Amino acid sequence: MAKSVELIQKAERLARMYDPENGFYLAFSGGKDSQALYHITQLAGVAFKAHFSPTSVDPPQVIRFIRKNYPDCEFEKVDKSMYQVAKEMGMVPTMKLRWCCAKFKESAGEGKVTLTGVRHAESIKRSKRKEVEVTGHKFAGDIEEFFAWSAEKVAKKMKNINQDEFSRDKEQEVRCINGKDSIIVNPLVEWTDGDVWDFLNKVVEVPHCELYDPPYNRRRIGCILCPMSSRATKLRDIELYPYVKQKWLEVFEYFIGGGTTLPTQHAENQAVLRTRGGRNTDPTTPTSSRKWQYNYTPAPNVRRTSKRNCPPPNHGQETGNQDGEKPG
Ligand code: SF4
Repeated sequence: MAKSVELIQKAERLARMYDPENGFYLAFSGGKDSQALYHITQLAGVAFKAHFSPTSVDPPQVIRFIRKNYPDCEFEKVDKSMYQVAKEMGMVPTMKLRWCCAKFKESAGEGKVTLTGVRHAESIKRSKRKEVEVTGHKFAGDIEEFFAWSAEKVAKKMKNINQDEFSRDKEQEVRCINGKDSIIVNPLVEWTDGDVWDFLNKVVEVPHCELYDPPYNRRRIGCILCPMSSRATKLRDIELYPYVKQKWLEVFEYFIGGGTTLPTQHAENQAVLRTRGGRNTDPTTPTSSRKWQYNYTPAPNVRRTSKRNCPPPNHGQETGNQDGEKPG
């Protein structure tokens, strides 16, 4: 724990250089490692801002947990859902082609010093990760090695600057990374699972997300139907979140249809339009877009392409009754 605090404190000057106002960009997922990272950074007494990058297939339990327990965490904007991106790319994310992480998670924090909860104990791949890294495999090592590497890079850049014009302010601007790169600091890299739970339960004594507990019993928190999750977790996800399975099936339908919208999807689009317009005239859909997002399953053979074929406004809305009858 002391080593992690020391690393964060040593890296703070760097974080302030790239973001004087907020300091570190803390990548927060709502999982136990993110929580440990958040609280150890607080203990280090440095400036930081936690950010959550939604993927559009996040478990609602995680979103609720973050909003309730970490209200200062900023939710990044997401302009397209994972389903939309999959349609555009012509492929769904798989274990070998995990483009979703790169698209939704890893590009966050560009041009800043990012704190992550990556740990060696998580996987064989992560066991090779280092304390400090620069994106694009430009650097990986410990903090002292990083300072030596960056000093060398800065010195090279300074050689090319006219010394007469060089001022103290300019010295601040000469940096070892540019543009889309970011410096990644992994303070928990040597922590075991036990270290994380002990820290959360015995040191900072904070609640954790319900997904770790029965009946969910998740070992890690990721997206719903994440390709990296086990078969058992995927089967449980299908039971718990049937709307996600439904949306992925529609993506496959889209591929099978040669990139065109098939009838079930067309019916769904119509339902969304009606819901957004505040007049949900379709008795098969809930009354708010939020409910739609989480619960909607298109009725079989629903094909309504014109307004004329739709039922009248408020048809069956109070009861969800297909016949439009109101309670007696
Ligand atoms: S958690 Fe899984 S589904 Fe979500 S972005 Fe990462 S790899 Fe993709």
